[in-house]
Amino acid sequence: MSYCLYCHESYSEAWSWEALIGLKQSPLLCQDCEGRLVRINGEICRICGRDFSVFPEQYRQGDSCFDCIRWEENEDWNGILQQNRSLYVYNDYMKEIIAKLKYRGDAEIVKAFYPVMSSEFKRISRNTIFVPIPLSEERHYERGFNQSELLAEGLNKSVENLLKRKTHEEKQSKKTREERLSQKENPFEVVDSNKVKEQKVILVDDVYTTGSTLRYAAKVLIEVGAKEVSSITLAR
Ligand SMILES: [Zn+2]
Ligand SMILES: [Zn+2]
Repeated sequence: MSYCLYCHESYSEAWSWEALIGLKQSPLLCQDCEGRLVRINGEICRICGRDFSVFPEQYRQGDSCFDCIRWEENEDWNGILQQNRSLYVYNDYMKEIIAKLKYRGDAEIVKAFYPVMSSEFKRISRNTIFVPIPLSEERHYERGFNQSELLAEGLNKSVENLLKRKTHEEKQSKKTREERLSQKENPFEVVDSNKVKEQKVILVDDVYTTGSTLRYAAKVLIEVGAKEVSSITLAR
């Protein structure tokens, strides 16, 4: 008997040889909960990884969605984020899961996604650095954990906290006007730029919504010499 990480109901696993001989990890969600998740595995936007099967045809052009085309047409953002890949559609159930994780402090639920995180991305080269999107220090302290960092741990790769979120106050008071103008909206800075130079970086975040958080993070990394930046998120 196991207990579902989401609804905490007990359930019995479907019997299988793979599970018995330890080839398959047991599921961490019950069948009802598992059934409410929608995996992205059909046709997707080449750049942001959005599931085209749940996306209106008129908002795409060829293999990219209009949002991505708009980003790429902007010379400040062209090529900044190589690509994003997400595991699940951001449906109502996924919204509940993420709210449970972020606002109700249920860190355990992340573990439900570890098996799929590690198997889905296992072929990514060892020479890639995985960097979680950081929270501000205040938010991190409040929540007690960074959900993106917890997710990244599920990849079974080396994860480095190379980004820092600047606070708004600091941005206003400590910088000259020119500094503020040159990267006025970028909330991120790179902690150790030597580690990033000439490297392939993959950012990890919980959700890709507008794509701006990931692009701002990618931009500071590119600015200090990262070779290319992509991202992985739980939902899109
Ligand atoms: Zn359940
Ligand atoms: Zn797209």
